[in-house]
Amino acid sequence: MKGDITFSIIKPNAVRTGKSGPILAMINEAGFEIAGMRMIKMTQEQAESFYEVHRERPFYRDLVDFMISGPVVVMILRHENAVDEFRKLIGATDPAKAEPGTIRKIFAVSVQMNAVHGSDSDENALREAGFFFSEIDRF
Ligand code: ATP
Ligand code: MG
Repeated sequence: MKGDITFSIIKPNAVRTGKSGPILAMINEAGFEIAGMRMIKMTQEQAESFYEVHRERPFYRDLVDFMISGPVVVMILRHENAVDEFRKLIGATDPAKAEPGTIRKIFAVSVQMNAVHGSDSDENALREAGFFFSEIDRF
């Protein structure tokens, strides 16, 4: 049903430092169902295209380099009002501004290395999931 799906990435810094398990536990405890999950290493082309909307921003090159610096965990998550509920769970982009108890407050080390990605609209959730999952992977 529309609005029930979001897309998330556990970013390279968090995977590298062994935080995938604790982050997944928080996602489960918050009531999200993991509808699809894989560990991958993004190609440069995937990362560039994924963050296309930020192409003109000064941090774009660094962001792409960071996102391809190691494996990431890509996930499709199911929950009522999934996009908004997940963005509440992860907190603000800048961990200094994130609410206590949010994933970014706990696991981010900087604005760039902010541990997780969460889609910002239903439309983008479907677009982003489509980068990494084919229909048959979703269950
Ligand atoms: P995400 O899209 O990863 O869920 P977001 O929607 O909170 O995060 P965006 O504005 O879409 O934030 O930025 C995408 C990503 O680009 C951020 O998660 C962060 O890793 C990086 N980023 C954003 N702003 C900056 C900045 N000022 N300096 C460095 N990196 C940044
Ligand atoms: Mg965003």
